[in-house]
Amino acid sequence: MRKFADISIAHKLVSIILATTIVALLLAAMIQATTEGMAYRENIGQNLSTIADVIGTNSAAAIVFEDRQLADRVLKSLTAEPNIMSGHIFDIEGNLITNYTSENSDPAQGKRMTPAGNQQLSSWMSAREPVRSFNGLSSIDIFQPIWFDREKIGYIHLSSTLDPLVQTLVRFAWMAAITILIIFGIAYIVSLRLQAVISSPIQRLADLMNRVTQNDDYSLRAKKTGDDEVGSLIDGFNTMLQQISQRDKRLQEGRHELDKQAQQLSISNSELKDAIAQSIKAKETAENANQAKSEFLARMSHEIRTPMNGVLGMTELILNSELSSKQRHFAKTIQTSAESLLDIINDILDFSKIEAGKLELERAEFDLREVVESVSELLSIRAQSKNLEFICDIQPQMDTSVRGDQTRLRQILINLIGNAIKFTEQGEIIVRVRTDGFVDSNPRYRFEVCDTGIGIRPESQEMIFGLFSQEDGGITRRYGGTGLGLAICRQLTELMGGETGVESEPGKGTTFWFTAVFETGSRAWHEQTLSDLKDPASLRILIVDDNATNREILEHQLAAWNITTHAVEDGPAALHQLADAADAGTPYQLAILDWHMPRMDGVTLAGKISSDPKINATKMIMLTSAATEDGGRSMTEAGVAAHITKPARPARLSQCIAQVLESGTAHHNETTGGDDRVVARSPGRFIGGHILLVEDNPVNREVATCMLNTMQCQVDEVSNGQEAVEIIRRQRFDLVLMDCEMPVLDGYAATQAIREWEANIPDHKHLPIVALTAHALPEDRRRCLSVGMDDYLTKPFSMGELRTVLSCWLPMSDTTIEAEDESSASNAASNDAIRQNALEAIVELDPEDGKELASRVINVYRENSAELIDVIAEALSQGDVEKIHSTAHALKSSSGNVGADRLVEMCRSMETAARKNELKDISDRLTAVKQEHGQVLNALTEWSQS
Ligand code: ADP
Repeated sequence: MRKFADISIAHKLVSIILATTIVALLLAAMIQATTEGMAYRENIGQNLSTIADVIGTNSAAAIVFEDRQLADRVLKSLTAEPNIMSGHIFDIEGNLITNYTSENSDPAQGKRMTPAGNQQLSSWMSAREPVRSFNGLSSIDIFQPIWFDREKIGYIHLSSTLDPLVQTLVRFAWMAAITILIIFGIAYIVSLRLQAVISSPIQRLADLMNRVTQNDDYSLRAKKTGDDEVGSLIDGFNTMLQQISQRDKRLQEGRHELDKQAQQLSISNSELKDAIAQSIKAKETAENANQAKSEFLARMSHEIRTPMNGVLGMTELILNSELSSKQRHFAKTIQTSAESLLDIINDILDFSKIEAGKLELERAEFDLREVVESVSELLSIRAQSKNLEFICDIQPQMDTSVRGDQTRLRQILINLIGNAIKFTEQGEIIVRVRTDGFVDSNPRYRFEVCDTGIGIRPESQEMIFGLFSQEDGGITRRYGGTGLGLAICRQLTELMGGETGVESEPGKGTTFWFTAVFETGSRAWHEQTLSDLKDPASLRILIVDDNATNREILEHQLAAWNITTHAVEDGPAALHQLADAADAGTPYQLAILDWHMPRMDGVTLAGKISSDPKINATKMIMLTSAATEDGGRSMTEAGVAAHITKPARPARLSQCIAQVLESGTAHHNETTGGDDRVVARSPGRFIGGHILLVEDNPVNREVATCMLNTMQCQVDEVSNGQEAVEIIRRQRFDLVLMDCEMPVLDGYAATQAIREWEANIPDHKHLPIVALTAHALPEDRRRCLSVGMDDYLTKPFSMGELRTVLSCWLPMSDTTIEAEDESSASNAASNDAIRQNALEAIVELDPEDGKELASRVINVYRENSAELIDVIAEALSQGDVEKIHSTAHALKSSSGNVGADRLVEMCRSMETAARKNELKDISDRLTAVKQEHGQVLNALTEWSQS
């Protein structure tokens, strides 16, 4: 069966109207029927009552006279009333007098009232009013008394059928049914019409929607049939379809556009892939080319170094021979030029090695502070010669014990600080070191070198880090240089896990910075010096310096040691401050004075302090910028207890303060920074030996042989490894000098063969093999040692270097060789006492006036080292091991700078002896130190004169 919801709207409408109409009709019919029925009943009751009255009146005589026949006749008149089914006449006691029954009625009807004492009859008779009683819709009974002369003489009962009423009602029902049917008919017709008017358009709309949905065809439109609601609906629907189709169109267009773009993208993509493939190929080609270039450069530098060995070696031999001053000048010029060339080659070698990824950094323990301070000290001399303020600002309390490559760090610092000094004419150079977080739990440090020099234009700032790049040609010519330094610095810092950068303003100055990551070291380097200060918290120190940065750094440094400080910027302010403090009962124990100050210089101030009894208890330390011209006499006369050359290294400052406060004076060599690296060369002199020289290059063979002969060594020469292996099997040698790269059998393979042969001979004495290598890199050295060589010498080498290496491996003697004549012995000894290239390194620091710089360094060394030795002697007599330790340390640092390697080693031994409190040992060593010191001074004089 169809559900109501499923039928059409028109049918629904008609059904609703129909149902309403039928309900209304039925209600009306029922009301009508009820009203009609009631009226009919009233009528029939009235009629029957009237007939009963007439019959009662007519039958009164028959009752009175008990005339039955009359009564019958009267009743018989009822035949005229077809609806009356029966009639009865009773006497007053209720006895039936006569009755009447209609022919069409049921006979039982007439009998029903017959028996006297009938219950109903009795109740009727007892009723005071006439009785009118309906038996449903079948009959009506009338029972009423009969009067005669106002006296009740009997009763009459009439019963009439209600069939006419029923017939009327039936007829009524029929009429209603027919009416409903007609209404149904009409409703059906109306619904059909309505369907045509309402449902059909909606249906058509629904069909159209189905078609649109099924065919995805939004171009279809519904046909409008009128302006009614359905019409609006169709309009709305059509508008919606139009919008959808427009949107579809736009979407379609968008999709087309997207397809087009996707197509273009895929074309670009494939082009990009091609381009990437090409650039990968190009990159590989470039990398190969670069690799080839780097290898070529490395090879080339190596090949150049070999003949350079000849040039330098021969020049050195010439310089050691009898020469006229002109010849010496020419030979010296050749030597200087060759050394410059060698430096450039070394730079190129460095760079190409880094580029080829072949440079490995060392991982040795060192004190970062020591390295920065010693480089700063060394270069500060150059800065001071240009009247530049030089400030070294290392973050106090920074953990500076690290593991890494100090040589490379030194190289970077020397380059940056050297540049800063080179490009600055006035102002200051500041070297700063700070911690800069951690990388994988290793500390990173940030180094800054700031100057107030010519500056660099913004557009050149990145370019200068390129190979052979300089800011502009004019400057290059004016200041010299190759433009290699910064490129190497950048590469080296990257190898150290850091970065480089520059900030600069032309005409104002430049700050070069770099970062480097080192592993944490295990030695607490700075503890030793800090412990020199006893109860620093109770100290009050006044700083007097016109340079604000210097004041700040000193304050910082002293605060780090818990010392109370105050700083003032000139002499008058200092005198004021000292007097105020003395008045307040809190005098300063120490004043640190800058020498060069406007208005009142440091010496004048010191004199004023010394002559004022109120404040002359304050001890004084002077900060000087260069070596004092009068050897410090004016300062001493003014009452200054000690002087330190700026920048004041914390370690030395702390030592100096401690010594001044304890003993009233201190002796410090402040101008030269110490390279405290261990030089594992033994003191003493070797007594010649039988040496096998294995070298394929004839010039190099000749150079080395000449040098060895000069050193009283017996030399046998062979030109490749194979010959060396063979001769060693036959003959005994004290040492082998083995070139690494040779035809037939190279030095590495030859060494391995020699070591294998040695292993098979019981009790064979170990034969020292020293590599002669043009490769100066750590991995080359490692390779030499790994194949069984004992030491190495980098070509080109000087006679001093050869001598130092041989002294480690050949038999020693504490006496000089008798065969040598007096002067040559002294010459050899003094040549031996200093490492020439240490002094050459100082010369190189100042391309313009390096020699002058070196002379100044030597003068300062001469002056202060003697003083230091006296202090050691004095301390020894007093048994003051602490002072011996600190002074030996200072002498060691100073001697390292002038290349007095043996003296450095002796000082180191003395430091150790002092730490162990071995006074006897110290006394012995002091004699040797004095002797060696004399040799060093001779050697320095010789060097200066040459
Ligand atoms: P070199 O100094 O041997 O020429 P570098 O690579 O060390 O080579 O320096 C490259 C160039 O960078 C210098 O020639 C100079 O133009 C510029 N430069 C470097 N340091 C400074 C500085 N502190 N102030 C101004 N210019 C500088």
